[in-house]
Amino acid sequence: MRVIVIGAGVIGVTSAFYLQRAGHQVTVLEQHRAAAQETSYANAGQISPGYAAPWAAPGIPLKAMKWLLQDHSPLRIHPQSDAFQWQWLAKMLANCTLDAYQRNKNRMVPLAEYSRDQLKLLREQTQIQYEGRTLGTLQIFRQAKQLENGRRDAELLAQMGVAHQLLDRNGIIEAEPALAHIADQLVGALRLPNDETGDCQLFTQQLAQLAASEGAVFRFASSALNLRTQKGRIHEVLVAGETLQADAVVIAAGCASRQLAQQLGLDLPVYPVKGYSITVPLTNVNAAPCSTVMDETYKIALTRFDQRLRVGGMAELAGYNKNINPRRIATLKMVAQSLFPQAGDLTQAQPWAGLRPMTPDGTPLIGATSIGNLWLNTGHGTLGWTMACGSAKVLADLISGQRPEIPTEQLSLARYA
Ligand SMILES: Cc1cc2nc3c(=O)[nH]c(=O)nc-3n(C[C@H](O)[C@H](O)[C@H](O)COP(=O)(O)OP(=O)(O)OC[C@H]3O[C@@H](n4cnc5c(N)ncnc54)[C@H](O)[C@@H]3O)c2cc1C
Repeated sequence: MRVIVIGAGVIGVTSAFYLQRAGHQVTVLEQHRAAAQETSYANAGQISPGYAAPWAAPGIPLKAMKWLLQDHSPLRIHPQSDAFQWQWLAKMLANCTLDAYQRNKNRMVPLAEYSRDQLKLLREQTQIQYEGRTLGTLQIFRQAKQLENGRRDAELLAQMGVAHQLLDRNGIIEAEPALAHIADQLVGALRLPNDETGDCQLFTQQLAQLAASEGAVFRFASSALNLRTQKGRIHEVLVAGETLQADAVVIAAGCASRQLAQQLGLDLPVYPVKGYSITVPLTNVNAAPCSTVMDETYKIALTRFDQRLRVGGMAELAGYNKNINPRRIATLKMVAQSLFPQAGDLTQAQPWAGLRPMTPDGTPLIGATSIGNLWLNTGHGTLGWTMACGSAKVLADLISGQRPEIPTEQLSLARYA
């Protein structure tokens, strides 16, 4: 089959790779001159099935109100004149019940775990290098209340069969020796030993090269402008004056997926939730984390790459702008300084902001649509790097008429019908 994939972020590139391996003839359209120039550019680097959970959770509305009043808050809402922002927020709030949380988590965890297993297989098959580590992640608690919530999370993880350890101060120092200087300010931690880390941009670009070497065609600096339908199917994809034909089209365009689908009368509930990161060159690797440390107080993740520290997090609902607010960058630097003061040169930190393509229920949109040959792989929100390989593999199976290895019925757009 000839398949056009729109978007060369981590989701589009993994889709292209698995589709190519399934025997299809794949063309990827990407508006930028290289892969992973948008949200997959500088994320927090966590491959974290253990934290696969929707942001919409019981207690979040109250917490959100408190956060909005805090300095160094993990959340900001800038009201827009765009009705979609309010509709999306209303849908997200409706997902903050216990029932909805459990239903959404039960959709996300199997996909995230499957994805980590697919990534492992891919590594074995291709030897792909992306500054990856398999040393788990460590969520640290500064307050007793956080530890109590951590215990509750641990019970949930036990029910779902996800490996985890609750650590005291000694355990924290054993897992991340560079935290010894601040251990007396921590009350405990939750470690997820099977989580992984790595540079998502590097992975995406390496995988794009691999897919290209196996026959996939990457057309960079090529925007998909229009998707034309005939008899309920995509008939042509318009790219700068040229029309392309395909048997199947996949929208994997991150936050732009909504606008592309809108042309076709499809309403994708994918809102851009802005996050920030800094990338810091390491000057003393012994004073740096070994893997990811997640500071629960600020909801900021600090991830070790070979010679760099990536510090990322925060959520801003502020429409599609990617402006960098210096106050957010100051918060990231403050947390890095507090946890790993000797690790790197913060004056050389590279700031970045990206837009997470988020659905109100936290679960991505993967699968068929009401348009015969149009498929979706988008809306991965906070977990696109974590869920990429699994999402792409199930999409390739569905397009190839194969039965996916995990349930996918609840992943498609139909759940919003
Ligand atoms: C601060 C921050 C930290 C994060 N940390 C983590 C983390 O630790 N772990 C994790 O799992 N996830 C994390 N995420 C989320 C993750 O980065 C995203 O879910 C993921 O990158 C989304 O990938 P994507 O391919 O869907 O979108 P993108 O990477 O945005 O790719 C979409 C691509 O489509 C292209 N495109 C759009 N429209 C068109 C068009 N019309 N024609 C051609 N091309 C088009 C764009 O140029 C872009 O390259 C984080 C996100 C942020 C912002």
